[in-house]
Amino acid sequence: MQELDTINVIISGHIDHGKTTLLYKLSGKWTDTHSEELKRGITIKLGYADITISKNGDYNIAGNGTPQRYVTFIDSPGHEMLMATMLSGAAIVDAAILVVAANEGIKPQTREHLMALQAKDIKNIIIVQNKIDLVSKEKAIENYNTIRKEFKGTIAENAPIIPVSSQQEINIERIYQAICEVKVPQRNPNDKPLFLVARSFDINKPGTKPKDLHGAVMGGTLKAGKLKVGDTIEIKPGIMIKEANQIKYKTVKTKIVSLFKGSSKTNEITPGGNAAIETELDMSLGKTDTLSGCVVSLENNLPDITNKITIKHHVFKEQIGGITIPPLKPGETLMLSINTSVTVGVISRLNKDEAELSLKIPIVPFKGDKVGIARNINNHWRLIGHGEIVK
Ligand code: GDP
Ligand code: MG
Repeated sequence: MQELDTINVIISGHIDHGKTTLLYKLSGKWTDTHSEELKRGITIKLGYADITISKNGDYNIAGNGTPQRYVTFIDSPGHEMLMATMLSGAAIVDAAILVVAANEGIKPQTREHLMALQAKDIKNIIIVQNKIDLVSKEKAIENYNTIRKEFKGTIAENAPIIPVSSQQEINIERIYQAICEVKVPQRNPNDKPLFLVARSFDINKPGTKPKDLHGAVMGGTLKAGKLKVGDTIEIKPGIMIKEANQIKYKTVKTKIVSLFKGSSKTNEITPGGNAAIETELDMSLGKTDTLSGCVVSLENNLPDITNKITIKHHVFKEQIGGITIPPLKPGETLMLSINTSVTVGVISRLNKDEAELSLKIPIVPFKGDKVGIARNINNHWRLIGHGEIVK
């Protein structure tokens, strides 16, 4: 069977604009299942849902018609305090849905999420104008035009705007169609494999006999190349160890025991989509999310980890709410989001284009990788710009 084109799509936008509801209507899955999420009615963790889109006159979830595309949706938390989480989610996607509620319009976090997509270099954006059931036709058109106008000059300038009511299930097929129109990037299976770890888990049920226990599982996406069951892999930066009162990171080597694409077992994974790697590592490493933020490749393929990087920086002209962002300052502390990892660094050298930072948690540097730059403002990490690793 010809393998289906696979893409990851993040659902972003201001809190309460209907992201989780839309994801449910698109996939049949509620992602707010975490107890705290249920209690507070907000999304805290990244939520995942996989579907196959089929074409049958219109597009629909798998079932009838010719399968067109395999899609993993990632729901982002709407709360401003969870920007780092949203950024690591955005690291593993090819496209984004930006939800704007028609009755409220563009809000500060709509812009912040749009900036995050820009920082992560995500060019495929679909704007969903949600909750059209709550406004008159005139108001909906006015809101549509405002979205167009306000996103002029941004990466969402030419993005389609799809009027939808998630709750009333109006016009959802148009979103499937737009997703099928997103161009899947060219991928070469002979490239060095690169897997980004977004989360890790312990898949053992309580009471499992020791001989039946599974090793730690890493979830994320393969960015390049391919990985097979039986491959020996290395995981970097790996695990933190304390040695003579110094914190160090140790590369982890292990074998691939099994592979999953979505929830189905497979012998090999290729780029795109939501995948998971079961390893021979102790399951406790999976439980505590210790490995999220790491990168994985075949052994001896990854660059050395580093605590010092130089980035080309670009600070946004204005922040949410029209406030001008003061420039970077030597000695200031920034939060950096690189691939799925989040680290904190102090600016040790700075000029107009480049900043050198010393990092608290080391990263695996790939020249050209995108960096999201956040500054602590009133105890919140706010995204203020983006950059690119120079060395
Ligand atoms: P999130 O914070 O962006 O994930 O938003 P939720 O999906 O949790 O939705 C917030 C609220 O808006 C909930 O009460 C939903 O039932 C409601 N909602 C979502 N979509 C629609 C819609 O299309 N129309 C109406 N009227 N309400 C909606
Ligand atoms: Mg939500």
